[in-house]
Amino acid sequence: MSAAPPFDWEAVLDRLSELYGTGDWRTPYLRDHAENPFQVMIGTILSQRTRDENTDRASARLFARYPDAPSLAAARLSTIEPLIHDTGFYHTKARLIRDASRQLLGRFDGTVPRTFEELTTLPGVGPKTANCVLVFGYGIPAIPVDTHVHRIANRLGVVRTKSPEETEQRLREVVPREYWIPLNPLLVQHGQNLCRPIGPKCGECPIADLCATGIALRSGREPPRRADRPRRPDGRRSPRPNRRRPRRSGAPARTV
Ligand code: SF4
Repeated sequence: MSAAPPFDWEAVLDRLSELYGTGDWRTPYLRDHAENPFQVMIGTILSQRTRDENTDRASARLFARYPDAPSLAAARLSTIEPLIHDTGFYHTKARLIRDASRQLLGRFDGTVPRTFEELTTLPGVGPKTANCVLVFGYGIPAIPVDTHVHRIANRLGVVRTKSPEETEQRLREVVPREYWIPLNPLLVQHGQNLCRPIGPKCGECPIADLCATGIALRSGREPPRRADRPRRPDGRRSPRPNRRRPRRSGAPARTV
C-alpha cells in the first residue's frame, strides 16, 4: 500500500492568505513583521481568558501610559488595574505584568529574551505567550497554539490531540519549519471567521478539499474527532483534562 501524500500546507496558507487578504505569506511582511517584543509579551498575558476586543482596548490604554519595561515596572498596581480592567482577572494580571517587567529589568537588562526557555521563566509567560513573542516580536519560527489553532488542526486531521500543549508538540513534528510563522495568524483568522467553534461554515471554506472534516462532511461520513480521553480500567472515560472548577474573580490566571 502506498504512503499517503504529505499534507499540503502550502495550499492551506496560499488559500487562507488570499481569503483574508493578508498578502503572500512568503513575503517578509508576514514572516518578519516584528512588533515590539515587550508589548507582544504583555498583550498576550492580558489576552488570557478574554475576548480580542477587550485585549486590544486594554493594551492601547496601558501602552499609552506605560510603553516599556522601565515605566511598567515602576507603576503602582492601583494605576495599572483600571487600565486593564476590561480583560478580567485584572488584580492578578496587573501583578503578573508588573512583576514580569521588573524581572526583565533585573535579570535581562530590560530586554525581552529571545529563547523559549528564558521566556517561560518570567511571571505569567507560558508556552503560548513565549511562542507569540518569538513569532510576532522577533520573527523566530515557532507555533503559538491557542484554542483556534488547536481546534482547526484537529478538524483538518493533521493532529489528534486533547490539549493545545499536545497540539503544539505534534505540530512541531508534522509541520515543516518554513510554515511555522504564518500558521498561527492565518488559522486564528480562519477560526474567528469560517472555522468557528460551533457551526463551521465548511460549505464556504476554501480548504475544505484538504480538510478531513470537510471531506467527511461532503461524503456524508462522520467527521474525525479529537483524541478520545483515555479509558479507565473500569471502561469509563477519565475526567476531561481541561475541565476546571470555576474560579473566583481575581483567582490566579494560568500562564499561557
Ligand atoms: S472545511 Fe470546515 S472544519 Fe475544515 S477548515 Fe474548513 S471550516 Fe474548518
